[in-house]
Amino acid sequence: MIVVLSKNVSVHDKELVRIYLRDRGFAVRDQQFGDDQVIGATGKGVVDLRELGLLPGVERVAATSKPYELVSRETKAEDTIVTVGEAGNVKIGGSRITVIAGPCAVESREQIRETAERVRESGAVLLRGGAYKPRTSPYAFQGLGMKGLEYMKEAGEACGMPIVTEVVSPELAVDMQELTDMFQIGARNMQNFELLKKVGSLGKPVLLKRGPSATVEEWLLSAEYLLAAGTKDVVLCERGIRTFETYTRNTLDISAIPVVKSLSHLPVIVDPSHAVGIRAKVSSAALAAIAAGADGLTVEVHPRPDDALSDGPQSLYPEQFEKLMRDIEALAPVVGKELLRTPQPNRSTAAFRGSDSPAGGAALSGKPVAYNGESGAFAEQALMRIFGEEAPRMQVQSFKGIFDAVLEGSACAGVVPVENSLAGSIHENYDLFLRYPDIAIVGEVKLRIVHCLVADERASMDSISIIRSHPQGFAQCRDFLDKYPSWVLEACNDTATAVASIAREGAVKVAAIAAAAAAKVHGLKILKEGIETNPLNYTRFLVISRKFSGGPGPAGAGLAGAAWVPPSLGSERPDKASLVFSVPDKPGSLFACLKIMAESGLNLSKLESRPIEGKPWEYQFYADVSIPEQGDFFAVMEEFKTCSEDFRFLGAYRGSL
Ligand code: PEP
Ligand code: MN
Repeated sequence: MIVVLSKNVSVHDKELVRIYLRDRGFAVRDQQFGDDQVIGATGKGVVDLRELGLLPGVERVAATSKPYELVSRETKAEDTIVTVGEAGNVKIGGSRITVIAGPCAVESREQIRETAERVRESGAVLLRGGAYKPRTSPYAFQGLGMKGLEYMKEAGEACGMPIVTEVVSPELAVDMQELTDMFQIGARNMQNFELLKKVGSLGKPVLLKRGPSATVEEWLLSAEYLLAAGTKDVVLCERGIRTFETYTRNTLDISAIPVVKSLSHLPVIVDPSHAVGIRAKVSSAALAAIAAGADGLTVEVHPRPDDALSDGPQSLYPEQFEKLMRDIEALAPVVGKELLRTPQPNRSTAAFRGSDSPAGGAALSGKPVAYNGESGAFAEQALMRIFGEEAPRMQVQSFKGIFDAVLEGSACAGVVPVENSLAGSIHENYDLFLRYPDIAIVGEVKLRIVHCLVADERASMDSISIIRSHPQGFAQCRDFLDKYPSWVLEACNDTATAVASIAREGAVKVAAIAAAAAAKVHGLKILKEGIETNPLNYTRFLVISRKFSGGPGPAGAGLAGAAWVPPSLGSERPDKASLVFSVPDKPGSLFACLKIMAESGLNLSKLESRPIEGKPWEYQFYADVSIPEQGDFFAVMEEFKTCSEDFRFLGAYRGSL
């Protein structure tokens, strides 16, 4: 049982609550849980929950049905997001996939540095490696100890990666804490309770591996030890359990991922290397884990696995790891997630994005990001995907409202949908780009759209006769709606607004087509899930920000303008650009434009024609092009501009898969 105390509880009242519980047969302990002061009570005592809830200083009482409390979803419904490292940009949990990689053991300064560089290039954001190795045989390589940790920290710092390393004793935990960003408790030590208590008390993030023979409940109870001791940042790691099967090193318990995610709010990652033990099979198991909902992976990679001092046969070659990362990136949107990437500094970036306006940049940091709709809208999910769950946000009631908020500076950026893979372009937003020349595109995210039929708790499929959604929601669920021809469709500004209206009215005859997130936000029920006609349903959102005039313009600024780039978009080299243009009304003029692109090796990923407002039978084109690594992209654009008419460069940005 958890007793959450009110924020301003007095020492006296808190003590009275403790005494009340002890008198009724409970063991009590104080906890700080997020912002809450909490008393955890365990034991077989009997208590009147209502009476307890009425004691001074008690805000609420949560009775849990499980032997663990602090790790339980019953205690905390939202996902915990664990932050590792001082920069705070490595997060585990929520809508991201976080990949940890590195060798089994630190073998030398050069080996850990080389591995760090290789895995970083492929997109790993945390460096793993054992300095103290708990080996089954006393004759096997035991690790370089503190020297190894120093080498690892050095490599991590050089590559901009926090480090995670195993700690094998309470004494070492104290010695290691200065150099370690995240402690790993290994499988063999999962139930070393003194170690758990000590490591938990240090307050650093902890990666807790599941013991080879531990049940899910035992594993969660070990995590409970860590939280009870004081840390709030625990990540659970499934790494294979011992079964009768001996072909693989262990048996990866894929089912543990959804099971643990339903029982606990803590992030769950998977170690496919120790689970499988065979290099050629590691990537398949890793992808299965992501498909099953894992929040990330920890993977063993070695530049020369054949020479590795430990676990060479299961360590991936850097090239295999690179391939795995590409596959994860492609799989991520299917499970509604995005692969977390650390920005790769790239000098050429400035040439595309322009220098941040010092005044404008500073003033904009901390301002909210604007989106159209209510809480739970798909646009809000897209926003959180890019800017993080905690990003301050601003709701506006139209797409134009997003452009206005960004232009006047009340929002630092905005998120606008421009295209759905089934229903096509959202022309209104393309038109807005033309009407707001001081707005630039600085980022992109593609979100998988899963539609649900959402209704009041008391509603059923038989009670409903009116369906509300955005017109795109209707278009994307055509096959489903065709089965119910008598339903009346009512269009709304966005899908979450449709849900909010039902929550307000409490009507049982109305349902909405919207995201599951909207149902959750508004406390409604999901009558049917996944009703979109085609599961390959993605909406493409663009991040917009404001251009700054004046100051020394970078190369190409005449076209791109110097726009403010939100730090969370990183500083990777833009690889995609969007433009709008029309062509002179004469034979071959479109061909002449496209020829410039073809000859410069620019890949055209989108070309769409659209009537020009006020000019019947004249058309403009929307184009997306790739920006090659080599060559002067802006020189090509300048040439393109002279060939076309009404050329408008909308922005250069990093495309999402
Ligand atoms: C490791 O990750 O280095 C390790 C030893 O794993 P496990 O504790 O899961 O065997
Ligand atoms: Mn290993």
